[in-house]
Amino acid sequence: MENRIELFRGDITKLNTDAIVNAANNNLLGGGGVDGAIHRAAGKELLEECRLLNGCATGDAKITKAYKLPSKFVIHTVGPVWSGREDDAQLLKSCYIRSLEIAAENGIKTIAFPNISTGVYHFPKEEAGKIAAAAVKSFFENNKTIEKVIFVVFDDENFQIYKRLLRLNFNE
Ligand code: ADP
Repeated sequence: MENRIELFRGDITKLNTDAIVNAANNNLLGGGGVDGAIHRAAGKELLEECRLLNGCATGDAKITKAYKLPSKFVIHTVGPVWSGREDDAQLLKSCYIRSLEIAAENGIKTIAFPNISTGVYHFPKEEAGKIAAAAVKSFFENNKTIEKVIFVVFDDENFQIYKRLLRLNFNE
């Protein structure tokens, strides 16, 4: 299990995995944070393709090409804005599962995730990390085609959380 999961600290737009995941918003028309970084690095053709998708529901995901990025595809998923309600966790889990399902359907073998919803959407980082790690772990139980999931951490708090979580969950 552990050799299918890696931790990378830095900018997701630099990765040449088959797909990178974007923490987008419902209209898929770009935003701040990692979404802004991905659109800037991919170029305006990404926005043109996104305009054709008619947005995306929270907890769901849609795929596009990656244009000027080193990866081949971008999978845009929409995390929940943290509300404190019970369905926050289910929606966040669904972002990871739907992204992985779409990746598998498209023959993607390597995929990088940002820490969805932990920026301006204010999901508590520790809980979000646990949900992310558990979602990938459960997906891997029934999938053999995805070879590598890279969790990309950008800020120090997430770096510390993921180092600990991945050791606890996967290296025992
Ligand atoms: P959300 O709206 O889902 O909260 P944000 O983009 O605000 O999305 O934040 C999600 C996470 O992405 C945060 O943990 C933030 O630190 C991280 N992030 C911001 N820029 C980048 C980047 N270039 N590469 C990877 N992660 C990034």
